[in-house]
Amino acid sequence: MESAKYRSPPQPPPCFNGTAESVLATINGVFERHRVILDKIVAEVTPATATFETVMKPILLSENEADKVKWVNGFYQLASPDSSLRDASRKVEELIDEFDIECNTREDLFTLIDAAYATRHSQGLDGESLHLLEKEWQRNVRNGLLLPSGPDRERFRAVQKEISSLSLSAQKILDEDTDAVWFRPEELEGIPEDDIEIAGLEQGSGENEGRVKVTFKYDHLVPLYTYAVHEATRQTYMLAVVNRANVNAPLFQKIIELRDEAARLVGFKNHAEFRISGHIATLLSYKKKDCEERGALFDGKLYFWDKLFYSRVRRSKEFSVDEVATSQYFPAELTFSAMLKVFEELFGFVFVHLSEADRARISPTGKSEDIAWHPDASIYSVWDDDEAGGGFRGYLYLDLQPRDNKYSHDACFTLQSGFRNEDGSEFYPSTVLICNLPKPSAAKPALLKHHDVVTIFHELGHAIHTLATKSTYARARDVEADFLEAPSQMLENWCWTPSVLKRLSGRWDTGEPIPDEMIARLVAAKNMNAALSARDSVHTALFDMVIHSGESQEHVKAMNCAKIWNELREELTGLHGPDGMGVEWGHGHLIIDHFITGYDAGYYGYLFSEVFSADMFYSAFKQSPMSKSQGRRYRHIILERGGTMDELKYLTEFLGREPDPKAFFKDRGIA
Ligand SMILES: [Zn+2]
Repeated sequence: MESAKYRSPPQPPPCFNGTAESVLATINGVFERHRVILDKIVAEVTPATATFETVMKPILLSENEADKVKWVNGFYQLASPDSSLRDASRKVEELIDEFDIECNTREDLFTLIDAAYATRHSQGLDGESLHLLEKEWQRNVRNGLLLPSGPDRERFRAVQKEISSLSLSAQKILDEDTDAVWFRPEELEGIPEDDIEIAGLEQGSGENEGRVKVTFKYDHLVPLYTYAVHEATRQTYMLAVVNRANVNAPLFQKIIELRDEAARLVGFKNHAEFRISGHIATLLSYKKKDCEERGALFDGKLYFWDKLFYSRVRRSKEFSVDEVATSQYFPAELTFSAMLKVFEELFGFVFVHLSEADRARISPTGKSEDIAWHPDASIYSVWDDDEAGGGFRGYLYLDLQPRDNKYSHDACFTLQSGFRNEDGSEFYPSTVLICNLPKPSAAKPALLKHHDVVTIFHELGHAIHTLATKSTYARARDVEADFLEAPSQMLENWCWTPSVLKRLSGRWDTGEPIPDEMIARLVAAKNMNAALSARDSVHTALFDMVIHSGESQEHVKAMNCAKIWNELREELTGLHGPDGMGVEWGHGHLIIDHFITGYDAGYYGYLFSEVFSADMFYSAFKQSPMSKSQGRRYRHIILERGGTMDELKYLTEFLGREPDPKAFFKDRGIA
């Protein structure tokens, strides 16, 4: 893997040595240059001479250049240790949104795009160019350019700007949350030492004397819900979690009102209907038994804070799945490099970890620290293997441990998109995984639960997608929401495949792979998890649709989001909230950043994509998940295309037929 030819990537990685001043200056320079180009198009082109070549191409080329610095400067807010830089970076994102609105609502430009669109089929365009021109036209229409200029158009612009600024303020609250709950150690009974080392937690003083600090990051949240035996502990914690972002409630309300207003201004009418019901009798029976055994009060109800706890009890009783025992076989570092090997074998990539010396050598400034935002971040250079030509593909960054003021979920972000330079050479992408995985303890390395393994594999799937896509324009990297999650969801199947789990495992002390019977139990319990998480997804997706489908502005203004969230959850999942606290006991919707960061009215995409991902897995990989030929075919037909053409077209090409939901039903044990 470490052969000499991989030592010198043809392109340096992006630098992260920005300051609060420099990021703002850089982004303003980008806007200035782009504005000059737009003005030039408008001055020189007329509707009669408007084509892809004269109108769209210069815009897209300018975007390619902008893309090199845009995301990097907007990224600091998620993970930089410097608070002034995080604030400036947030400002950058606000300015980017504002500038997008400025560019996307220019009537003079739309006249030309409209003219180029009208003659698109006679311009001899390649697929990517035609696809981008069509999407641009549709986007302009959605942005109100068919609205006559005047007060409505102005209001539309103002509304968009306000939404952007409110979303950023709300996101800041979520990212910078350093709040916590202080528990007495005995209240944390049941949580394995491997998950939370109680002696290592911050000790309280004053009113918290004798207590330890439990944060809301995933490395504390999941173990507490899953293992804490005292119901009061889970309840107290859950109430703190769902009320941690309450300061966002008025912002959230305002955002959905403005979205509704914007939709109405451009003539859309929203409607969405969705109904599903579920029951959780099985988990309830486990709770009854558990309460009887421990002599605890059983009131016949399953609460929100009981779900993970009794799911774990059920998994261990019915399927003998012991997650702590399983995790001994997945030490983070070993499992992670084994995952990269799977991607190497299947898709023909090579991942080369960059040492301190490598980093200094390829850093544009000669300083290794300048090509990362924090000492925790590690970097890989990514290449095609020899069979695929041995070319460079880009950079993969990892920032895996939780820390204060860092993004609190697990996600993948693009730092620079790939595209083709005007001289025909490639500009290579950079992408980052931001996670909050368990930390190593004094006695053991960081150990991954099976669900952590699935999550990392999923997020790595997004990174692989970014690294594999080949397009002329950076903009053609954008995949439609209906398909965006499908490649990553498909990869999750590998983490349920016994032969692959063997490869991903190696006991932290002895190096042994995970035993067959342990795998068999894990896989047997799969659909129990699937059914529960599907209900959560439906709850989230439906809430998303309900709040964004008001019958009128008045209706939206009168919406009580906390009430809708809690009532829908109870109705769809059958899980109760605390008794006697009404329906506004918590604001769980405010801690899900999808609603404020671009997945609004789009969360259903997670459910939609699952049909496609199951279809792809069953038709190409189920029999032979490590098939090199299928892996390469998938890489070239699906991943490489990205947003350069209609996703349904290449999906159909890959399957050799139209997609259908049979595999999805089969996988869920429904048919
Ligand atoms: Zn995803």
